[in-house]
Amino acid sequence: MANGFRLVALNGLLIFLYVALGRVTFAASVEYGNVTSVIFAPEGVALAFSILFGPKIAPGIMLGQALLSYWSGPSLLGGLGIGLFNAFEGVLGGYLFRRWGLSRRFDRLRDVGLLTCMIFLILQPISATGGVLMLLLNGMIPTHVTNLFVDAWSTQGIQKPLPSLHLVLPAWLHWWIGNSLGQLLVAPLVLAWLTPAKHKAAPLTPLELAVFAAGVAAVLLTANSKLVAGPLLLLASSYALLVWVGLRCDVRAVTGANLLVTIVIVGVGMLGDGYMSYLPVADRLFYVSFFLASGLLFSLLLFAMLEERRDMILRLTELASRDALTQVSNRRHFMEQAEREVASARRHGTPISLALLDVDHFKSINDTHGHVVGDQALQMLARCCETVLRTGDLVGRVGGEEFALLFRCSNSREARQAVQRLLDLVTEQSILAPDGREVRITFSAGVAEAGPQASLDAMYAAADQTLYEAKNAGRSRVRISGAAPEREREFPGGDVGLGSGGCSVAETA
Ligand code: GH3
Ligand code: MG
Ligand code: MG
Repeated sequence: MANGFRLVALNGLLIFLYVALGRVTFAASVEYGNVTSVIFAPEGVALAFSILFGPKIAPGIMLGQALLSYWSGPSLLGGLGIGLFNAFEGVLGGYLFRRWGLSRRFDRLRDVGLLTCMIFLILQPISATGGVLMLLLNGMIPTHVTNLFVDAWSTQGIQKPLPSLHLVLPAWLHWWIGNSLGQLLVAPLVLAWLTPAKHKAAPLTPLELAVFAAGVAAVLLTANSKLVAGPLLLLASSYALLVWVGLRCDVRAVTGANLLVTIVIVGVGMLGDGYMSYLPVADRLFYVSFFLASGLLFSLLLFAMLEERRDMILRLTELASRDALTQVSNRRHFMEQAEREVASARRHGTPISLALLDVDHFKSINDTHGHVVGDQALQMLARCCETVLRTGDLVGRVGGEEFALLFRCSNSREARQAVQRLLDLVTEQSILAPDGREVRITFSAGVAEAGPQASLDAMYAAADQTLYEAKNAGRSRVRISGAAPEREREFPGGDVGLGSGGCSVAETA
């Protein structure tokens, strides 16, 4: 019941949009005699609906087209015929879109390329052939029969029956380009606005909003300019706007900017204003179609290229900063981040501590149980580090079986307590070796706190030296730099994370 209602509602909405947008874009036909609009928007909505909802929206396309034709000529029957072709082509478009795994975010070059090929080379040749065939058939019907369906519509309607064969090719071409542009503009627009964005672009600053408004104004002004160089200025201003939107914004803004530019160009072409005022109608039609085809394609392809580039940079940055085995930061990334934290702690006068840990007798774990078990042990240690650390603290794998931890807003005593907790946690874990034995590991650690002027290098050297001492003192222990071993044991327990000096940190585990 609910499904039936949904189906009727969806098709009803599609019929409404098809007819309404059809009338609007027919109104923007450049010239009487043109068989379809310069940019036939309903075909874009139909394709988007088909991609979103599948073949069940076919009746909506067919009835929408039939009603539109009934309203605009040539006839209800002719309209149903055209609708049949458009419904078939729309459903095929949705099927191919899914079959080829195209993204509704238009963020891959391959997807935009395939979508364009699908529209220009598969879908619209079908629609144009069907449409022109219907007009031709209509023109062939003897007058006394035609009157029954056509009379009222064919004399005033936009879609006239084609009376002679030599009109077939121009009619086909107008149909093909008008529908193709409609799909290329509207389908990405609808789909992008209905699909959650992957990368949310930051909101525009007032200055950027002003840049955008200036870009739109430049497009409007140059389109209406009667300068001889008007077309070139229009090209420069609209492409500059599209490049800027592609660089700065997301796909929704790109499709929105395409709509804006389209409205301006079609408007100027329709009214014969601005630089187009010198052109005969046929040339205006050509200019508008050519401009829109290149502009729409350019901005979608450019955006896809930029988005792929943004994705690749993110992926490469991720790869360059993570250790492949344990997924924690690698040495370089850890040191870069730690440098920043140490500098910030120095600026704010807050304590900061570094711990270096090294797995005890790890070579013999590898030798006894194999490298796979050794790898699992390192992964387990990394997970334990993440469990013990608080938000804002850092962990990195700085050597084969050596890890570094940076504790923000913590003095060495607090850091030592955290590392001791980590050692207790790690000691409790076991890894099952292939021979069924349980393998456990321990580590030794050295902790150093940054003095008021200390650098990361100095802290690192101190922690390393202390780690060495912890190893020599018997392993499986945590030592503080500069503290006598007996003092170490005197440190009372307590909460880690209540650092001093205006620090605020949160526990993750
Ligand atoms: P100590 O207690 O003195 O630290 O002894 P150790 O055996 O841990 O010290 P050593 O530095 O001699 O051995 C480190 C071993 O860590 C040697 C190397 O094969 C192993 N290792 C380094 N990276 C990896 C890795 O990614 N996977 C595995 N399984 N082993 C690794
Ligand atoms: Mg080592
Ligand atoms: Mg070791």
